[in-house]
Amino acid sequence: MRSELLTWYHRSRRDLPWRHTSDPYAIWVSEIMLQQTRVAVVIDRYTAFLQSFPTIQSLAEAGEQDVLALWSGLGYYRRARMLHKAAKAIVSDYNGQMPTTAARLRELPGIGSYTAAAIASIAHSEPVAVVDGNVERVLSRIQGWHSHDTVSEAAVRRKVDDFAQALVDPRHPGDYNQAIMELGATVCTPRNPQCLVCPWASECRTLGEHRTPKRAAMKTGEIVYALVLRESSSGTEIVLEQRAATNSVMPGLWELPVLKPAQKPEHEPMLTVRHAIMQVNYTVHVHALDAQDLPEPSLERRWMSAEQASSIALTGLARKILTKAGLIRTSRNAAVIAPSPVLEVL
Ligand code: SF4
Repeated sequence: MRSELLTWYHRSRRDLPWRHTSDPYAIWVSEIMLQQTRVAVVIDRYTAFLQSFPTIQSLAEAGEQDVLALWSGLGYYRRARMLHKAAKAIVSDYNGQMPTTAARLRELPGIGSYTAAAIASIAHSEPVAVVDGNVERVLSRIQGWHSHDTVSEAAVRRKVDDFAQALVDPRHPGDYNQAIMELGATVCTPRNPQCLVCPWASECRTLGEHRTPKRAAMKTGEIVYALVLRESSSGTEIVLEQRAATNSVMPGLWELPVLKPAQKPEHEPMLTVRHAIMQVNYTVHVHALDAQDLPEPSLERRWMSAEQASSIALTGLARKILTKAGLIRTSRNAAVIAPSPVLEVL
């Protein structure tokens, strides 16, 4: 099975920037970014992030807002905060040297079993298996394992962990781990797996989708934002607010002023977008307002030029709205951190 998978991988793998390096720091950054984020989105951000923070030391010395700005658009900002925190810990507690084994890597903030195994196997050839959702799906389908009334998800997961560890190639663990993740991402996909081109089709007991536990249905919700603009000598300026540092969701990030239901204007929104956060699908209405019609701020509120706005740590939703409104360009341009903007407090 190992050689079938590796032969397929060397023939079919996608050419991705993090596959051209054995630098554990770069592999770590890519693995953290790839959690819950599509490869196409990660490619640009990965390159920009490493251009701005090419080493663990440079990341450790950076300000949090600069790190978050480079993470903008990837979502799940806790990952960026933990990456930053771990870089600082490596500099202060590990003499600037990243641990080399999966067991030691797991001691760092934000590095769990999956990430530790990926870094240790790819950068240091430690034969330790990665098991994420993709790998679990592939191996469960191969064996025909699924949770049901008498077998819990945890029991299936334990069997998958053991199977994964037995399969990992001791001579090429990094390539093997990348290969099985690639198989799950491109061939043995959640819907309509491509069994006809699968290197493991002859060993697979299900040859297709198999029973998996039903996911909870997404909830729905509504958010109303105010878009307040003015023209100045430096171009269009936008009112933005900073989320409180104590907020459990996206603390410290910038967004448009939020209007409560009672403050919702009667006029039609200038823009409506859909946006999913966690398990909720939101309908987001954006109303154009004059500055004097904004409710009293309870948060830090500032005028920012469009250029400043595009280079700070915006929430993913704020970036989406400002991009759709034609005020900023996509974060492909966020590679260079703008100097700290001088801002007028409203
Ligand atoms: S044969 Fe089909 S179901 Fe089985 S591992 Fe391959 S792609 Fe997945």
